[in-house]
Amino acid sequence: MDAFEEMMAEEIGRNEAVAVSSGTAGLHLLLEALGVGPGDEVITPAFSFVASANCIEHAGAKPIFVDCDPISLNVRAEDVEARITERTKAIIGVEVFGNPTGMRELAAISAKHEIPLIEDACEGLGGRLGNDRIGSFGRASVFAFYPNKQITTGEGGMIITDDTRLADACRSMRNHGRNMSNRVSSATTGTRLDVDRLGWNYRMSELHAALGLSQLSRLDSIMEHRSRVADTYTRELSSMSDLIVPTVEPDVTMSWFVYVVRLSTPYTSEDRDEIIEGLRRHDIGAAHYFPAIPLFPHFRDKYDLKPGDFPVAESVSQRTIALPMFVGLTEVEIKLVCQTLGLMMTRSRFRHED
Ligand SMILES: *Cc1c(COP(=O)(O)O)cnc(C)c1O
Repeated sequence: MDAFEEMMAEEIGRNEAVAVSSGTAGLHLLLEALGVGPGDEVITPAFSFVASANCIEHAGAKPIFVDCDPISLNVRAEDVEARITERTKAIIGVEVFGNPTGMRELAAISAKHEIPLIEDACEGLGGRLGNDRIGSFGRASVFAFYPNKQITTGEGGMIITDDTRLADACRSMRNHGRNMSNRVSSATTGTRLDVDRLGWNYRMSELHAALGLSQLSRLDSIMEHRSRVADTYTRELSSMSDLIVPTVEPDVTMSWFVYVVRLSTPYTSEDRDEIIEGLRRHDIGAAHYFPAIPLFPHFRDKYDLKPGDFPVAESVSQRTIALPMFVGLTEVEIKLVCQTLGLMMTRSRFRHED
């Protein structure tokens, strides 16, 4: 596990890496290590995977949701700044679908207000903004290795930071709060049974770490294949009206986590679901993607949130279609997916004209 941690720290260009049992565990540990608790607020995107909000609940704090930008699908720094109060203890920034657009501005807001930025980089391993790697913008960042991610350990996550004290607190807290100062063999097995603080069992096993090490050594080739798939999709789809393909800003190197297109606004979520159903009937594994997090019942009911509170996230989430994205996808298969998608969209339009 030490070797996997070292290789990840090196990959991101930071000093410390702490392997944990999942991305969510890493996010939760960081909030705890930063002292976030009841009465505190943490700003987080409305459009993301639910874990980037659940971790705040785990810490006992209140998630403050921010709507997304309609192009990048990430939060806008000015919208985040507008929600900062004296209770704000952290900002969680997410590179949605592996896109780092806006992270520099978010880091600047975090520095200006002296509120730590936690980068939920779980979808962004290998991506860059100029020369800056995803995972290097926040006070600390978290990667995840669930099987749908760019590399996998089955289950797993990694905290990355330059802050040694923060990393040491996470090392202790992933291991029941044990005192880790007298380490002998490995980072997860302290020789003493002294406990310094409340902790959890958020350890990564050596078996998982061994898998991570071999996966990470293939990252460049995985990235190359995934970006070839994405480029082919963009080439085939960008001329289709009614379809919004991902926008990649000139200084962005995407980490292609998924390839998600959006139908334009005349299409409803029912049209979208019908189109996905049609693709599936042709053996194409398309799917919709993130619903807006604030409308999940545990957030909606607890914080009295309503449809319409996050209009961009809601509108986007009703019209997304995630197309098949994996390393072995061939050019012919991609063309077939695109043609079928076009056909299903035409069929949906005809229905409207009836
Ligand atoms: C995958 C993911 C996570 C963490 O997932 P785990 O299943 O806990 O490893 C967190 N945030 C985002 C945005 C993700 O995509």
